[in-house]
Amino acid sequence: MLKNKTALVTGSTSGIGLGIAKALAAQGANIVLNGFGDVDGPTAEISALGVSVTYHPADMSRPAEIEDMMKFAAQRFGCVDILVNNAGIQHVARIENFPAERWDAVIAINLSSAFHATRLALPAMRAADGGRGWGRIINLASVHGLVASAEKSAYVAAKHGLIGLTKVTALENATTGVTCNAICPGWVLTPLVQKQVDAKAAAQGISNEEATKQLLGEKEPSLQFTTPEELGALAVFLCSPAGNNVRGVAWNMDGGWAAQ
Ligand code: NAD
Repeated sequence: MLKNKTALVTGSTSGIGLGIAKALAAQGANIVLNGFGDVDGPTAEISALGVSVTYHPADMSRPAEIEDMMKFAAQRFGCVDILVNNAGIQHVARIENFPAERWDAVIAINLSSAFHATRLALPAMRAADGGRGWGRIINLASVHGLVASAEKSAYVAAKHGLIGLTKVTALENATTGVTCNAICPGWVLTPLVQKQVDAKAAAQGISNEEATKQLLGEKEPSLQFTTPEELGALAVFLCSPAGNNVRGVAWNMDGGWAAQ
């Protein structure tokens, strides 16, 4: 379905980003990976799906590096047809103890990076398909873009902001073939959440298994993690023809978290 399309997924060396990159590659999209840590493993996994894959090491907190990445992607593949703004970090502390430097980093990586990548991707998306425009922008927000939790001020502010940016992007392109939507997962067991499980286990002197149960039990009625594969399938749907008129939606996949 996505043959001859190019998808750039920020923060795709691990977790949800890698899951979405693999799902889009399985539909034939060429992939631009980004993120820190191991690059060879993710590159090999995606190459095995028979598509072209490349990598750019942009630090998503730095606008100049984001510009460089978008130029690199356009030079390599001609155009970024699908942009998945996924890179994100977390910091957990009460507001009075929240380090100002961590606030700036969370806002830069979880929110401002999506603005920069989007503004740079839009002109080519709008010119695609003989001037009719075709593009998909998918913002990885969170259930924390819809509701709050204590001790996550920067993350909750960034994710609410990202849903606002999603709506504006959708509206500004509503008469074109470019859509923009947000995906809002509940708990997904990735390195980002494993750190929170480990901190809970250490703070309470309980096992990792007990900490995991508590974490799910506090917020997620299904008592189940959402998986990167399920999120990848939702991204594929948004890129499909059936997603042509899905615009400005914040779609939670959260085991009932926000329904409470
Ligand atoms: P993760 O820690 O597994 O992956 C984050 C990715 O972002 C990694 O590839 C990392 O290298 C990259 N990254 C971090 N800082 C970066 C930077 N400055 N520049 C470039 N890349 C950077 O996390 P994840 O759980 O897969 O999270 C992915 C997205 O999903 C985030 O936006 C997160 O907020 C969101 N999310 C996660 C959950 C969850 O439960 N895991 C729930 C809701 C939303």
